[in-house]
Amino acid sequence: MSLDIQKIRKDFPILNQQIYKKPLVYFDNGATTQKPQLVIDEEVKIYSEENSNIHRGVHYLSEQLTQRYEDARKVVRKFINAKHDHEVIFTSGTTESINTIAFSFGEKYVNEGDEIIISTLEHHANIVPWQILCERKNAVLKIIPINENGELILEEYEKLISSKTKIVAVNHVSNALGTINDIKRIIEIAHKRDIPVLIDGAQSVQHGNVDVKELDCDFYVFSGHKIYGPNGIGVLYGKEKWLNEMPPFMTGGEMIKKVSFEKTTFNELPLKFEAGTPNYVAAIGLAKAIEYIQNVGLKNIAEYEKELLDYATKKLESIEGLKIIGTAQNKISIISFILEDIHNYDAGMVIDKMGIAVRTGHHCAEPLMDSLNIEGTIRASFSFYNTKEEINSLYDALLTVKQMFG
Ligand code: PMP
Repeated sequence: MSLDIQKIRKDFPILNQQIYKKPLVYFDNGATTQKPQLVIDEEVKIYSEENSNIHRGVHYLSEQLTQRYEDARKVVRKFINAKHDHEVIFTSGTTESINTIAFSFGEKYVNEGDEIIISTLEHHANIVPWQILCERKNAVLKIIPINENGELILEEYEKLISSKTKIVAVNHVSNALGTINDIKRIIEIAHKRDIPVLIDGAQSVQHGNVDVKELDCDFYVFSGHKIYGPNGIGVLYGKEKWLNEMPPFMTGGEMIKKVSFEKTTFNELPLKFEAGTPNYVAAIGLAKAIEYIQNVGLKNIAEYEKELLDYATKKLESIEGLKIIGTAQNKISIISFILEDIHNYDAGMVIDKMGIAVRTGHHCAEPLMDSLNIEGTIRASFSFYNTKEEINSLYDALLTVKQMFG
């Protein structure tokens, strides 16, 4: 089935506007995606008609909204095909999810001299929490290297694993280069040695089906705002066996069973990891966003975005002096590039004046940029609401940049 993109674009009100008197071309979907009207409407409806703190009241509004929050959890569970609802923890986003795991898993399982494996491709959110843990526990961080295409070198990964490895944490898709990592293989290799694996799915869930049961990953995390949902909501999926053993990260209301001044006992999953008032409005909005993309069809989304990626790659490659950074065989609809002798920031400023939103810089992946010996890139990240005509506009803008600075 082919998608009716013009019809889809009407669902996203923000796209229908001019920036500097030019039609907005939004190619910063890797940073955050835009929201369909039905997600925006859902939030307005909750605040206008249904708002009440959940879990705490016996009154009508509270009970109704508690049910809707728990229904949202079920939508997420089905979406990623988790075994149990309580394996889905709502957080504020990928960053909080990873911090929660790094702290709690680290507290329980990581000791002096132990090792944690991450990769060169990681976002700072999947580096810094592990670094802090290593400092706290006197553990060692090991890094999977990449080849010249920006793909993880799995033979080197295997060599990094030792009897001291406690966890492997890698992204599914690199936000900076678009590389899709062979996480199935990465997980299999770790599991042969009984080592759990965390997958940072911030750049993958919005582009195709994710099945945590099939992948057999131990943890999978993502952010609502990158999957057409609201800000301030994210997901931490964890296998029950780990989450039950791990101590809570944040403490306070909701996550307790019984509190006295002498001692506190903790609640069952998932509430053990949801201290305080959760962002129930955003959780329900996230469920709406998931239902929306399920209606569009994840297979359709993946196919169309691949078409956009191939089209843009061909077009951009034809520009003299433009170098694509990240040429993995398996890529998501993200293109990072640099222009010979032109600073990314200068190029970004000119592209912006054409009404085109791209991102320039290190994309929160400074160690990756260091390893590539570059300061940063210009990144265009496409969504299923983008069009080939918009890619043509980027192409034209890049020719203008070259004329101005070349
Ligand atoms: N991991 C990856 C791969 C990302 O792309 C991002 C966001 N750019 C994050 C983690 C952090 O996500 P958030 O800021 O929503 O917590």
